[in-house]
Amino acid sequence: MAAAAYRHLYQGKRWYRLRYKQLQKDPLCCFCADRGVVRPAAVVDHIKAHRGNEDLFFDADNLQSLCKHCHDSIKQQMEKSGVARGCDESGMPLDPNHHWGSYARSAK
Ligand SMILES: [Zn+2]
Repeated sequence: MAAAAYRHLYQGKRWYRLRYKQLQKDPLCCFCADRGVVRPAAVVDHIKAHRGNEDLFFDADNLQSLCKHCHDSIKQQMEKSGVARGCDESGMPLDPNHHWGSYARSAK
């Protein structure tokens, strides 16, 4: 899996601090919040796929707090449907009706 190639980014202190700050700022899952559900976040996710780009990786504005369930269901959907391939350069889905679009917009 591609994520293994970026593993070193997740192991540094810089990410650790950034992740900690994000969870302090936004301790609840933002996808659940969209549905009116209050659930504590466990995962800090990148809104735009960073693909190893450190500027995107360490951009505090590119982070969202998710619970494990939401995070895992996104990743599963990506792997099953292959929508990850249908992204523009910024990592956003090309299909404007794709649910990521609305999530990303509401997260701003
Ligand atoms: Zn959630």
